[in-house]
Amino acid sequence: MIHNFSAGPAILPQSAIQGSIEAIQNFAGTGLSILEISHRSKQFEAVVDEACDLVKELLGMPEGYSIIFLGGGASLQFDMIPMNLLDESQTAAYVNTGVWASRAIKEAKLFGNVNVLASSEDKNFNYVPKGYAIPEDAAYFHCTSNNTIYGTEMFSFPDSPVPVVCDMSSDIFSHPIDVSKFGMIYAGAQKNMGPAGVTLCIIKNDILGKVSRKLPTMLNYQIHIDNGSMYNTPSVFAIYVSMLTLKWVKEMGGVSAMETRNTAKSNLLYAEIDRNSLFKGTCEVEDRSRMNVCFVMNDPSQDDAFLALAKERKLSGLKGHRSVGGFRASLYNALPIESVEALVQAMKDFEKGI
Ligand SMILES: *Cc1c(COP(=O)(O)O)cnc(C)c1O
Repeated sequence: MIHNFSAGPAILPQSAIQGSIEAIQNFAGTGLSILEISHRSKQFEAVVDEACDLVKELLGMPEGYSIIFLGGGASLQFDMIPMNLLDESQTAAYVNTGVWASRAIKEAKLFGNVNVLASSEDKNFNYVPKGYAIPEDAAYFHCTSNNTIYGTEMFSFPDSPVPVVCDMSSDIFSHPIDVSKFGMIYAGAQKNMGPAGVTLCIIKNDILGKVSRKLPTMLNYQIHIDNGSMYNTPSVFAIYVSMLTLKWVKEMGGVSAMETRNTAKSNLLYAEIDRNSLFKGTCEVEDRSRMNVCFVMNDPSQDDAFLALAKERKLSGLKGHRSVGGFRASLYNALPIESVEALVQAMKDFEKGI
């Protein structure tokens, strides 16, 4: 077995892989492959309905929100959000916690004014800024709940007088959230929800319809909501595999069970990073992510030797992002604790020179 610590696209539950294989051969008893059926077939419509029901149930979603599945990755949302929510004369509030937040800020500036309330760029994004106030006249407040590249996580959200828009690409479904506190939540599927090719958007209905600009049809949230994610052909296969993944989350006990599991995995790894004389964590301890664990060696000239041992032990995807260096272990929902135990053992053995 290969231990898959990839940051994304990332590990999926075995049941989702098996279910996908079966659906590629014979989808829902149709005798056809999921790759060759109409997105308007009743069998696929049932898949979209089930995926929406699972999202609602797992997150305990209140009334007044819509769920849509879009293309273009989380990155397209960096544009769609300001297009749909920010008038040219208005200001949106952002907090800059890394590459993805910076990209969101850059795109928002194309559509209106941006007020960056706080940034952790001064320390290469190794902490989550806190203690800023969100202006009452902002069109919305945008944040990134988990910073995939740097390994920081927001463990609480600021009180906001305006709609909170959150990029949850790398921690959605990893722990319970209170959806009612958000105006919009979005997530590219390929970190913690499914394969690449689909983006989940959860939008509070009453935040839409307020901008004066003309919206291109495909970039208008309301069009996708009114058409149940079927205005055009959606990512049929990616939605199917995401649905199977969410089903697995439910079978495993839901997002609270995921939180218990993810906390146990990350505690185990951080404890070894803190104990082991060769390694150190890169982030402020209170902001350490349960999804992406970033660490380096005190002597970086040993990086390659550790990666060689990791390869020998079938520990895959551990090389850190180029902007942080060292190592990054992504511990998404589907990663079993046995994989973290194998990594910890490799770190111990490396320290002993085995
Ligand atoms: C990966 C990632 C993105 C970019 O996602 P794409 O689907 O590749 O556009 C955005 N935000 C966060 C937090 C991510 O982890």
